[in-house]
Amino acid sequence: MEAATQITVKLPDGTPLELPDGSSGADAAAAIGPGLAKAALAIRADGELRDLSAPLPDGAEIAILTDRDEEALELIRHDAAHVMAEAVTELFPGTKVTIGPPIEQGFYYDFEFPPDVKVSEDDLERIEAAMQRHIDAAESFERRDLPTAQAIELFRAQGQDYKVELIEDLIRDEGVETVSLYRNGPFEDLCRGPHGPGTDRIAAVKLSSLAGAYWRGDESRAMLTRIYGTAFFSKKDLAAHLELIEQAKARDHRRLGPELGLFMLRKEAPGMPFWLAHGTTLLRLIEAEVHAQLRKREYTEIKTPHLMDVELWHRSGHWDNYQENMYFTESKERQYAIRPMNCPGACLVFGSDRHSYRELPLRVAEFGEVSRAEREGVLHGLLRVRAFTQDDAHIYCTPEQIVGEVTGVCEAIDELYARFGFEDVQIELSTRPEKSIGSAEQWERAEAALRGALEAQEREYTLNPGDGAFYGPKIDFHITDALGRSWQCGTCQVDFFMPERFDLTYTDHNDAPQRPVMIHRALLGSMERFAGILIEHHAGRFPVWLAPVQATVLPISDRHIEFGDEVAAQLRQLGVRVEVDRRSESIGKKVRDAELARNPYMLVVGDREQETGEVAVRSHAEGELGAMGYAQFAELVHSAEAA
Ligand SMILES: [Zn+2]
Ligand SMILES: [Zn+2]
Repeated sequence: MEAATQITVKLPDGTPLELPDGSSGADAAAAIGPGLAKAALAIRADGELRDLSAPLPDGAEIAILTDRDEEALELIRHDAAHVMAEAVTELFPGTKVTIGPPIEQGFYYDFEFPPDVKVSEDDLERIEAAMQRHIDAAESFERRDLPTAQAIELFRAQGQDYKVELIEDLIRDEGVETVSLYRNGPFEDLCRGPHGPGTDRIAAVKLSSLAGAYWRGDESRAMLTRIYGTAFFSKKDLAAHLELIEQAKARDHRRLGPELGLFMLRKEAPGMPFWLAHGTTLLRLIEAEVHAQLRKREYTEIKTPHLMDVELWHRSGHWDNYQENMYFTESKERQYAIRPMNCPGACLVFGSDRHSYRELPLRVAEFGEVSRAEREGVLHGLLRVRAFTQDDAHIYCTPEQIVGEVTGVCEAIDELYARFGFEDVQIELSTRPEKSIGSAEQWERAEAALRGALEAQEREYTLNPGDGAFYGPKIDFHITDALGRSWQCGTCQVDFFMPERFDLTYTDHNDAPQRPVMIHRALLGSMERFAGILIEHHAGRFPVWLAPVQATVLPISDRHIEFGDEVAAQLRQLGVRVEVDRRSESIGKKVRDAELARNPYMLVVGDREQETGEVAVRSHAEGELGAMGYAQFAELVHSAEAA
């Protein structure tokens, strides 16, 4: 039999491409054109990303990856992680390397430095410079495959114990017989790949920070040093990225929170925010907007207990499916759980009464404070907390009413988010997770209902397989902030299951008992998290309607304080949120501090104002507005609120 001398691969537009047998991705790119040959970074063959140098299988559908593809950035960041390990092992001989993956914003590599070597952030520049030398040297990434025994021997001889452990695990867990190694310059690493053709494709690289990390995230194993960095295809992209980080730092709600008297976090209660006076006002203002939606859309509101018998959580399925996220407590030999969700309490309320089909859909809201046992390492200001308030609601309805109810939730979310200045809402549909309750048929029905509702409204959405709640699929709503970052806020979940567990019924028009469907929904999601997003979105400088303090009265000297208090009292009567700076500081200092407090208006009062009964108004947005009476100023505030 004659061996095939040609293979045929298929290009993304369906065109066949004939190549000599044994041709690689690089050969395919060259056959298409010299421009592509130069731009090529890797190749996708039948959906799998491979090195350009790997031979192509006959009949494969191929696509050449260039720097225009989103995944290409991930590829060169993985390249950069190897270059960093190359630089580090060169600068600090005896360093043990572990793993170095690309991550969302860049890459990292975890190292174990020799005991006598101390590496700090001061060394990052030196490591970066060494990396640059290897990038400039245009070292190619070369792959070889070795039998596991030989690879173990190789790494053992180099004292690279972590690599030996990784290979041993691969043998045990995946039964592999060979492993792949990638070389760039003098450095060779155990790696699945793929990699770009050479180090010179990394146009811009920056190391950012250093942190401790346990080997495999296991506290009983060695503490390693993790170095973070990022890489881009151009210096310009890197500069834009660094600029964004600077801006994010300036807006960081964890710093602005205490500075502006909004909230604080204490080690006595990790992940559980203390709301200060200004922050509590902010929360109430946000709540008022949610309440307006509840009134408009015919919701009733309830409040249920924080602490309930564990028996309830067995019944709800939380014990089996959510236990690791829950706090438990015991009193007088009775076991309680602190609620991580409001649903079981809501079910007890619904189940305590008889319901007729005439009442449905029944929409019951609860601003429910919940607690979840998040690991300390993942806590992040207000964005990831252990205690928060959901603007929650449960809608009980018939299967026929689902589409209408989900549509109503989407509309409420549109209106509410627009009120806060977020117009661009992204929707994600999440389906059945691994840990879940209910039958396949129930899940299918629920997923179809959510899809149907989105399609009936002609809304675009993306699919997020396996990320639903344990009791049902969900739609999540994402907003984009001033820095272009996306945040998940609201959620809407269809649940056929909880009503069964709690034996919830209503009577239909034949007086026969029927099972209602339960829709769990939150418009903003977590009030705390939403407040955190707003703080960063506005960089602490809230619009007039949302500012906890709309105006600061600044008496020019101590003898004007009494008049300042009088001005403030009058303005409060007129519905303006106002504070007086009663400190014995110079007016210059008071003005500077009021500017730092980021309130929309300053009202300076001295002899002249006292005589005329007016205030000298200075607006942050518009500058000096001159003197005016209280009523006129209050009107100005209210018209700004309405804008
Ligand atoms: Zn690698
Ligand atoms: Zn619920």
